[in-house]
Amino acid sequence: MTGIDATTMRTDLCGRLGPDDAGRTVTVCGWVDRRREHSEHLAFIDLRDHAGVLQCVVDGARDLRSEYVVRITGTVTLRPEGTANPALATGEIELQDCEVELLSRAEPPPFPLDERADVDETLRLRHRYVDLRKPRMQRNLRARASVNRAIRRAMDAQGFVEVETPMLIASTPEGARDFVVPSRKEPGSFYALPQSPQIFKQLTMVGGVDRYYQIARCLRDEDLRADRQFEFSQLDVEASFATRDDVLGFVTRAVAEATVEVAGHDPGTFDRMTWHDAMERFGSDKPDTRFGMELAELTPIFADTRARVFQAPCVKGICLTGGAVTLPRSRVDELVATCQRWGAKGLAWMRVVASGAPGSGGEGSDSSGSGGEGSGGSALDGGVAKFLSAAEAAGVIDALDARPGDMVFLVADERPVVRHVLGLLRLGLGRPPVNDGRFNYLWVVDFPLFEGLSAEGEPIPSHHPFTMPHEDDLAALMSAAGPPTGEVLLDVRSQAYDLVLNGWELGSGSVRIHRREVQQRIFELLGIAPDEAQERFGFLLDAFRYGAPPHAGFAVGLDRLAALLVGEENIREVIAFPKTQSGADPLTGAPSPIAGAHLQELGLRVLPPA
Ligand code: ASP
Repeated sequence: MTGIDATTMRTDLCGRLGPDDAGRTVTVCGWVDRRREHSEHLAFIDLRDHAGVLQCVVDGARDLRSEYVVRITGTVTLRPEGTANPALATGEIELQDCEVELLSRAEPPPFPLDERADVDETLRLRHRYVDLRKPRMQRNLRARASVNRAIRRAMDAQGFVEVETPMLIASTPEGARDFVVPSRKEPGSFYALPQSPQIFKQLTMVGGVDRYYQIARCLRDEDLRADRQFEFSQLDVEASFATRDDVLGFVTRAVAEATVEVAGHDPGTFDRMTWHDAMERFGSDKPDTRFGMELAELTPIFADTRARVFQAPCVKGICLTGGAVTLPRSRVDELVATCQRWGAKGLAWMRVVASGAPGSGGEGSDSSGSGGEGSGGSALDGGVAKFLSAAEAAGVIDALDARPGDMVFLVADERPVVRHVLGLLRLGLGRPPVNDGRFNYLWVVDFPLFEGLSAEGEPIPSHHPFTMPHEDDLAALMSAAGPPTGEVLLDVRSQAYDLVLNGWELGSGSVRIHRREVQQRIFELLGIAPDEAQERFGFLLDAFRYGAPPHAGFAVGLDRLAALLVGEENIREVIAFPKTQSGADPLTGAPSPIAGAHLQELGLRVLPPA
């Protein structure tokens, strides 16, 4: 045996052989990728293993079909002049004088393994073991392993201890539905599967572990999407006597090392932005900062407007460079309808033209004239331009830095609606493809403690209820006269933060509450009565009575990170055995009914479908 790839059955991997090996007698193993007849007796067999494909010249007498598993011994030979295949990594060589041993026959594969073939996903997942043989899947799984390896190395170097936490637990409050497991020993009682190891990692802090991490499996019963599966993995982190900035530093290092390892690209320092700025400038708490098109604040410009459409608490706009030329009217009408579906009353649009240009009010225009002139010699035309005063038009042009040929879009409404709709429109019009080779990591900090009020007027937490309020807002929250109420509560910031990559939320975390009185106040605000708090989280509250260090943590979604690093738009492409969009596993048939006897043992009875 030679080299790390050798086993008792082979000396080399197909894809790792090259001209330097010419003259060597080697043994390789793998699947028949393709067979072509060379002459009456000889055939070319392309043999595939995870490292690549190797052309073998085989005495054609043998019956070798696609996906048969074989072992071939032969001599590495330079291909004759002019027959090298530059498209293949091993294209300069071939294996000659081959002896073939058939290890396994194979039925014809259920779908072609050609990367270009468009195969139904359910069929791919049903035969995932065949699908995984594709070079793309091999690359993705190996990239994912590299992410884990880099992360473990970085966490270890920073003094973190890998601790495993249980899977059968009581509920963790992450805002999703629990998957539950019935108890046989106590019929009628259930374990929850962890939505995250949140409470346990905090308990390790009380337990003096100081720096905990885990590549943790988490389960959340929520609707699946391209970036969401029931089961996922996260780098779960918690540190004692550490502040937000310490945690951001730990996680930055781990994620940066994974990026270097997989994409060969050092992302440098990660930018930071407050949640407030992200919402105002990008209309999203996970802004894709690879492109501009920021939301401009136009409210003051329309403070005294006579145009009814702009008489609203908030007006903002975005500018699409060249949009007046590239967007046909039919597309603009579609955008208006889409924005209405997203919740806006309407979408105002105007073309930007050179001031005094014949286009303003001329052919193809929807208005009788431009509404005003900006500092760059531009004017607005078409759409709602005729309703704007000259000063308003000039203000819009300046605020959006609009140039002739551009198209501007404005939304006037309640501020959250304006941000939400323009944020989505910005992505729809300007977002670069996922895999454009850039990795714009961004920390979004100072999230609000509450994301809104319920119908009963109770605040809804943005993160889990153990998140520490922002230091500067703590005094008001803890005031003896009682905490702020109603809308004012929504201005209270937390010490929660998210990591965003190219517009995908990669993870979140926070400084935790380690003081009982603060935790009690938060429970009070959330309408969790003391006995309910005790029942749900009593073990954590009890632990805090025995000396809790200040601590903070984070979790990074590894499926999403791996997908973005390899340029995949769907996390299923980086998961060996994912579920379909509807949550089924076509390979094993899960979920499936269980036998009556088993139900009985668990003390369960299944109701007929409603
Ligand atoms: N437990 C959180 C989550 O899984 C992360 C954290 O706050 O550390 O999203």
